[in-house]
This record gives sequence, structure tokens and C-alpha cells, in this order.
Amino acid sequence: MIEKKREVMADGRAQIYMDHAATTELLPEVHEAMEPYLTEEYGNASTSYDLGKRNRKAIEDARSCIADVIDADSSEIYFTSGGSESDNWAIKNIAGAHKKKGQHIITSAIEHHAVLRSCEYLEELGYKITYLDVDEYGLVDVKELTDSIREDTILITIMTGNNEIGTLEPIGRIGQLARQRGIVFHTDAVQAVGQIPLSMSRLPVDLLSASAHKFHGPKGVGFLYVNKEQELPSFIHGGSQERGKRAGTENVAGIVGMAKALQIAACEMPYTRSRLIRLRNYFCERVLHEIPGSRLNGHPVKRLPGNLNFSFDGVDATSLLILMEEQGICASAGSACNTGQTRISHVIEAIHVPEEYAPGSVRFTMGRDTTKDMVDAVILSLRQNVAALRG
Ligand SMILES: *Cc1c(COP(=O)(O)O)cnc(C)c1O
Repeated sequence: MIEKKREVMADGRAQIYMDHAATTELLPEVHEAMEPYLTEEYGNASTSYDLGKRNRKAIEDARSCIADVIDADSSEIYFTSGGSESDNWAIKNIAGAHKKKGQHIITSAIEHHAVLRSCEYLEELGYKITYLDVDEYGLVDVKELTDSIREDTILITIMTGNNEIGTLEPIGRIGQLARQRGIVFHTDAVQAVGQIPLSMSRLPVDLLSASAHKFHGPKGVGFLYVNKEQELPSFIHGGSQERGKRAGTENVAGIVGMAKALQIAACEMPYTRSRLIRLRNYFCERVLHEIPGSRLNGHPVKRLPGNLNFSFDGVDATSLLILMEEQGICASAGSACNTGQTRISHVIEAIHVPEEYAPGSVRFTMGRDTTKDMVDAVILSLRQNVAALRG
């Protein structure tokens, strides 16, 4: 493996990156795999000479590599520019394709903005959207979901793992219900792909969104899985790329990098996943024990391996993050899309975090490079800074 240089701050101390849900570092092996397609292998994959055909092959190899990892067929993988595009494509175009059958869509109150804003856009066009409440752990209630299904329900879109509080939704049961009722089921699995095992041959999922930069791949590339039984209209009209459904000359380097990153994530998953769960539980127990007035947000066990979201009574998250950053620690308050706004995130609101705690909600997300030493340093920093802000 290629030696990785450690991030060091100006004063020589190591940087501790605790924001893997926002994005992850490109792996050197991934960079290496991408490199030829940024330089000498510049051919257009749609051309007939070798320079182009080598790119076509690289794209199709990447497609089958990704399909293998998630137990799908190559023909079910469509390359996109990332998670947001995959969500937009799935939701808007399923809505469009099924509008004669009905115009009702079910989602949850804690989805990523790429899902929520797509639904709001459809609402403006006359669609009816049900935003399901979640319980105190952020779980969608399958019984409530069942009750909200109507004659004209055409799509259910519920995320696999929440990006803020890490809660894993019961997508197997939701998908089963959707199949029984003949409703299309889409899941935003951007936080879950590469973190937990997902098998498309076993899960009753019709469409699934993923993004490379959340699993140590490059930014600006992702994929949408579309079950072969599913008819999905074209999203970008133009050339015949992606079987005519998503036109535009392919981001070959990005696609190759994404496949490499997912392959590595899948290989390491059995080890990394259990290691991160142990580290997460250690981190969580220590914080809840050692810092009075702290609480864990999200489900205690049904959560993404590396995700922790805490709230601290009487503390302002923005101030806490500034103090922690001075000590080299990168973490987030709510989702990265909300930075610059001090308002409480829609997810923290939806799980009814008590008023005194809600403004003090901070997310720590760990990854393959996170060590116990780093966690210890973060806990020490939290203890000092939470106390300082309260005093
Ligand atoms: C990051 C994220 C997205 C957006 O993905 P991009 O590739 O950044 O567009 C969508 N959904 C979830 C759950 C995410 O965490």
C-alpha cells in the first residue's frame, strides 16, 4: 500500500478528521487508478479507435465491478454526478413516468435535502407528498407508512442510513411492503454504500442512490441502481451514453476511481465495520459517562458504523466546533449543507431533541483512518470545551 502522509496543522499537531459523513479523503490507490484517464488515456469512449475503446472498456469494467459489490447486474447501474443527481433522477422521473397512475409520494421528514427539495419541487407541480414523522431514534414506523399508502401512491423514498444521526431505516420491510402494493421504492443509500453490506438481489429495492466521495472515491461522481424490472425515463437528453438515459461524455476517471474505491471498501468492510462499531461504542459510552448533560441522538444500535451525534445541554454547537477546530478537530453541526446557518437541523427537530439540548448538537463521523488515539483526543477536547462553554 502507498504510504499516506498525515495531515499536519501549522503548529505541527496532527489534524483529526471526524467528518466522514461530509466527505472522505481520496485513497492513494484510487488516485493511482484514475491517473491514466486524466492524462494519456484521454479518448472519448464513444469513438471507434483504440484510444476511445480503452475508455469504453474502463467504464464497463467499472460498471461490472460496482454491480458485483452490490449484487446487481451491470445493466442496472447508471453513472451520475453524485448522490444529489441520483436522488433527483430517481424521484422526479419516477414521478413523471407514473403520473397517470397517481401523484402521491411518501417520504420521511429526515431525508437529505436532495430528496426533500425534489419532493417540494414535485409538490409545486401538483403532486401530493406525505412526509412521515420518525420516532425519537429517527426510525420510520412501518405501520404508519402502511397507513399512509393511498390508491394513488406511486413512489416511496426512504433513506438507508441518515447522514446526520446515523439511524438505519428498515428498508427491507419497507421495500417488501412497496412490492406487495405495486409501489416503486427508492432509497438514498449514500451514507450506507461502502459502510454496510447491501445486496440488491436480496433487498426489495427498485432504485438506490450512491456517491463516490462518501466512500473514499472522487467528488462529482455517483451511481443510480435501477432494478431491471423498472422503467426509468431519461434524465439528461442528448447522446446515447448510459443507454440513452443520461447523456454526456462520461467522467471516465471519476467512474474508474469510484469502482476502485468501492472495491476497496467492500474488501475491508468486514474488518472496518466491526472495528468502527467497537470504536463508536467506546466513544459513545465515554462521552455519556464523562460529560454531564450529554445525550446521544439517533438509534443506539441501528446506526451507521462510524456515526455519532451528541447534544450537550446549554452549549452552542457552532462555538464548540470553533474551539475544537483550534485543536485540529474537524466535525460538523448537522449536515454540511446547513453550515453558515445556525438554525437547528430538520433532523434534530424531527426527533424532538429537548430544547436545552438541540442547539448543542454535534456530529462525529469516523472512517477507516480513525484510530482510538484520535477518539481519546476528541473526548478530551470535548470535556474541556463543553465545560469551558458552560462556565
Ligand atoms: C452526501 C449525501 C448526498 C449528496 O451526495 P453528493 O454526491 O454530495 O451530491 C445525498 N444523500 C445523503 C444521505 C448524503 O449523505
